Amino acid sequence: MCVKTLREEGAELTGLWFNPNIHPFTEYRQRRSTLEEYAKTIALPLLLQDEYGLRGFVAAVGEDFSHRCALCYRLRLFGAARAAKEGGFDNFTSSLFISPYQNHELMKEIAQEAAAAVGVPFLYHDFRPYFKEGQEKAKKLGLYRQKYCGCIFSEEERYRKPNRILKDCEAGLARARELRSSLEG
Ligand code: SF4
Repeated sequence: MCVKTLREEGAELTGLWFNPNIHPFTEYRQRRSTLEEYAKTIALPLLLQDEYGLRGFVAAVGEDFSHRCALCYRLRLFGAARAAKEGGFDNFTSSLFISPYQNHELMKEIAQEAAAAVGVPFLYHDFRPYFKEGQEKAKKLGLYRQKYCGCIFSEEERYRKPNRILKDCEAGLARARELRSSLEG
């Protein structure tokens, strides 16, 4: 939907694959080949910075796992700004701005910072209103759809969170039973 919206505004686009935050390797490969296949169908030229980045990513966020998303945005948005500058493009943006699950305002701030530091304008768009439509289109086309954000930590959270909810429920039930038996006793 990002491509469609920008093309409707008259932009000539080139896509960039730069995702050191996607792990494990099988997921990285799956998402990359999905993009490659889809890009062909919409005639989108692609630049591939195709290096599986687990080690570099962990080194970049390792000091502060709990605030890793800000560091991750920085890594990716500065990477996009540098690629735009090196490629001689007029500006850059990111498909991250379609996600309702990301910290949109923080990403915007970091992208503006990257633009100033690298010397290439950031083209801001809030693509979030198109998120649902994009998901439906991907489903219709039979494209692979990601099940978690990207990094190995978010993959863990995907499985952990429901467990935590389940544990909270179990703890709540145990507490209710205790109360009931104390009242009955
Ligand atoms: S959860 Fe998503 S945004 Fe946050 S660090 Fe992981 S890949 Fe990056």
